Amino acid sequence: MNARKSALAKIAARTDTYADSYIPYDVEKEYGADVFGLKNMEHYLAKPVYKKLLETIHKGSQLDENIADDIAHAMKTWAMERGATHYTHWFLPLTSASAEKHDSFLDPAGDGIAITRFSGKNLIIGEPDASSFPSGGLRSTFEARGYTAWDPTSPAFIKRYGGVATLCIPTVFCSYTGVVLDKKTPILRSIQILGAQAKRLLRCFGENADARPSVTLGAEQEYFLIDKNLYMLRPDIMQTGRTLFGAPPAKHQQLEDHYFGAINPRILAFMSDVDKELWRMGIPAKTRHNEVAPAQFEIAPVFEELNLAIDHNMLIMETLRIVANKHGLVCLLHEKPFAGINGSGKHNNWSISVGERNLLNPGTNPHENAIFLTTLCAIIKAVDTHSDLLRVGTACAGNDHRLGANEAPPAIISMFLGDQLTEIIDQIEKGQTKASKADKKVLQIGIDALPPLPCDVTDRNRTSPFAFTGNKFEFRAPGASQSCANVNIVLNTIVAEAFDEIATKLESTPKDKFQSVLQSILQDIVRKHKRIIFNGDGYDNAWKVEAKKRGLPNFPTTPEALEPLLKKENIALFKKYGVFQEAELKSRYEVFTEEYRKKIKIEACIALDMAKTMIIPAVNRQLGYLSDDVLKAKAAGIDATAATAQANKVASLANSLSGAVDKLEAAIAASQKESVLISDMGEVRKYADLLEREVSDDIWPLPKYSELLFIY
Ligand code: ADP
Ligand code: MG
Repeated sequence: MNARKSALAKIAARTDTYADSYIPYDVEKEYGADVFGLKNMEHYLAKPVYKKLLETIHKGSQLDENIADDIAHAMKTWAMERGATHYTHWFLPLTSASAEKHDSFLDPAGDGIAITRFSGKNLIIGEPDASSFPSGGLRSTFEARGYTAWDPTSPAFIKRYGGVATLCIPTVFCSYTGVVLDKKTPILRSIQILGAQAKRLLRCFGENADARPSVTLGAEQEYFLIDKNLYMLRPDIMQTGRTLFGAPPAKHQQLEDHYFGAINPRILAFMSDVDKELWRMGIPAKTRHNEVAPAQFEIAPVFEELNLAIDHNMLIMETLRIVANKHGLVCLLHEKPFAGINGSGKHNNWSISVGERNLLNPGTNPHENAIFLTTLCAIIKAVDTHSDLLRVGTACAGNDHRLGANEAPPAIISMFLGDQLTEIIDQIEKGQTKASKADKKVLQIGIDALPPLPCDVTDRNRTSPFAFTGNKFEFRAPGASQSCANVNIVLNTIVAEAFDEIATKLESTPKDKFQSVLQSILQDIVRKHKRIIFNGDGYDNAWKVEAKKRGLPNFPTTPEALEPLLKKENIALFKKYGVFQEAELKSRYEVFTEEYRKKIKIEACIALDMAKTMIIPAVNRQLGYLSDDVLKAKAAGIDATAATAQANKVASLANSLSGAVDKLEAAIAASQKESVLISDMGEVRKYADLLEREVSDDIWPLPKYSELLFIY
């Protein structure tokens, strides 16, 4: 039996039964049990200390160093009571993962005695040897020092994997000279600037803007699950996260029977464990379901403050991977694990509130409507002006397979508003000309009330990258494996800019002119930027042509999509709002470009390796059998025409495969550009996939799509 067949036999022999026992579980008690949140803080801290910390968290004010020791001690006591022996500063470097370096609480006190200690300094600042993190030239390795600093707006929590409990302290990460090396710092800066501009805008509307602004995110996470026995036989998935070979199966998703289907018991057991792990860490996992592709699923939490939601999404991805392993499964977060099958995205549901007021909630009266429409127009302006930057945030090797393929939003950024809102936008565009004043259809902002907008109607268009969905925008282009940080840094900054520009105009407007000035500001925006609005089918090729006519950028691949990071006006934008310095943007460009190059190179090397050591040997064996058959048939005087034709067909494909492999090998050796490597890999795959259909099933070494996607 070949390894593939024995892996299948092992899966078939699984005997798990999931239906037998009911284990009581108290969600309310378990939720957040491993978070040093407000409830625990209040319990473990002296009242004045607690109050001061609360102020830091809510106002974003500097943490008073005098209380750091008290907080650290309380945190340690709490964490040790929950079984933790170590703590770590937990941060988000420029890779796609989170980072941690554990230190024990242990402090040897001589005489073979040890006490535990965790000081305020340990809490506030860490100094990991950071030389091996990508920095895009910002920090040479001899200046290895990097600093991590506590971000009190994201609470400390305990990770509990394999029975080991570790206190994790969310931190920002910067270099010795204060240059930002992580994804959290710019997120915090962008939240702050957007909040400030939102308050300023609300003040123009006569609102009391003392309330706390908050940017919120609900990130829907798609993923695949495959059986670990099969995974172990696929070096491509193990090393690159996706299949570099695999003929399309006869049945994939065409019957549309997987989406929202009844959840397989083994998968459900996995999902239930994931939910419990997440709830324990205070992550509000809410929905779970089968997705469109076979073996594809989704988890979505309830939306939270953006900074926290980003941390939580990182933990969701990690938890999915770890819990999958416990169930003999492997979780694939790659954007396109299987060619020809739907890929995985991460829908970024975003909105901005000040106090209780969500600026994207249309509201019920003309005043609220006016704030909503102003926000909407600001976002239209922001997205149209900076669609290239939004695309930057979604650029990575994996997502290139998704954007522009037939199930994901295209690489062209456009906005979907739905018919009703689009009609309102049209009315704003027509404006209050004398002729149209009589026209009842022309909306007078601040005077007329909007018709109620049914929020679910706007959710239907699944092909738009950036869709209004009732009281939030859903950005669907981000890839499943990506951190939400990059796109939201951009989104916050560009919307802040638009708010800023509108507020600047409104602030200098006398009260009696407010309504007409506002109307003309919005009219102006719609006139200039309505080209970004597109309610049609984003998958349609006609849209590509139309978008080009409208002058909308289209960057299908990562290298070109990253270019805008270096544009002068973009550098100026981030600098103006204090989100990035020029050097920080350049370093990001370097890091992301390098990552892309390395990933493509790794894929090319793995493809070459698998072709040479797994596929060609199997093909040769098949050829050996076939030629034996021909010889035997001839010796026995049997008509060998069919066997000869078969052998010749395989031989011819084998020759083509071998030629393609040589070409790929030469391209790798010559360090050819990524586009060459991608195309050469494609050639190797083409012949390998054709051969998968010719070679005896008993010999073929790689688990097939029909097995990877349907057996768990
Ligand atoms: P779908 O897009 O699949 O219909 P849902 O309607 O369930 O999904 O919502 C998707 C996500 O949007 C959830 O995480 C939800 O909490 C989040 N969400 C809802 N309202 C807001 C909001 N005001 N700001 C940010 N996210 C929100
Ligand atoms: Mg959605």
